Amino acid sequence: MAFEGLAERLQSTFDKMKGRGKVSEADVKEMMREVRLALLEADVNFKVVKKFVNDVKERAVGQEVMKSLTPGQQVIKVVNEELTTLMGGEESKIAASRKPPTVVMLAGLQGAGKTTTVAKVANHLRKHHNRKPLLAAADIYRPAAIDQLETLGKQLDMPVYSKGTEASPVDIAKGAVEEAKEANCDYVLIDTAGRLHVDEELMDELQQVREAVQPEEILLVIDSMTGQDAVNVAESFHEQLGVTGAILTKLDGDTRGGAALSVREVTGVPIKFAGTGEKIDEIDVFHPERMASRILG
Ligand code: GDP
Repeated sequence: MAFEGLAERLQSTFDKMKGRGKVSEADVKEMMREVRLALLEADVNFKVVKKFVNDVKERAVGQEVMKSLTPGQQVIKVVNEELTTLMGGEESKIAASRKPPTVVMLAGLQGAGKTTTVAKVANHLRKHHNRKPLLAAADIYRPAAIDQLETLGKQLDMPVYSKGTEASPVDIAKGAVEEAKEANCDYVLIDTAGRLHVDEELMDELQQVREAVQPEEILLVIDSMTGQDAVNVAESFHEQLGVTGAILTKLDGDTRGGAALSVREVTGVPIKFAGTGEKIDEIDVFHPERMASRILG
């Protein structure tokens, strides 16, 4: 379960606070020391932790909180609200173009869960928004990725545009958009190549695909289990590609939660979806408020 460790630590810190009739500034400081440690242990970016702790302190030692009838509860409420803000505040919906098809490009490192997520998002769009997506196999360096996407397409009974490993990713992306128009598909989800590390060649290729098909969304797929690394990867992808959103995968295996709590603040990019398992329907729209409540119990 996501955030297990963090949730446990924060909840036991706050339990001490809940029933108190009076809370002093020193109590808040002491509590925030523990929150700070818990967040660092959860692998949250240290700058994010610093800002978060300062923001909570500033609000929590305010008159309204300290003089309220339930100051302990009020402090927890402030933490809850600040955690929500940290993860983006409002939920962020996937774009829909006025002139379909809406082109969505998924990018990310190899193994992050890109190919699986293309199918998951497509399934979500059909199931919850009544959309008709087409999947495009532009990860030409990994024949297994093309096969995987084709299999997923069959499983979902959705069209997959694939030209094997010979055509260029740019031609595949363009061809897929044309095919979508002809087949009246209103979304094109492009699975792009990944590498083990961010490199120039990969970025060049992704930039070319972006130029060729001008996607409404460039969604960065990141493995939440890689914590701080995921955030660094997100930063460099965003710098070079200008992503419009992030999808966190493997949240089911992420007991710490550092990536989920840092990525929005570090990149400024909203988290749109969270992958919660290997199965095709194990994806959720990312709700910052629900995530925060989950952490605080
Ligand atoms: P790609 O190289 O980025 O295209 O990654 P794949 O789509 O091939 O996924 C890599 C592995 O991660 C596969 O075994 C997927 O089943 C797994 N995976 C993807 N998303 C999730 C998720 O949300 N939770 C879990 N537990 N596994 C996932």
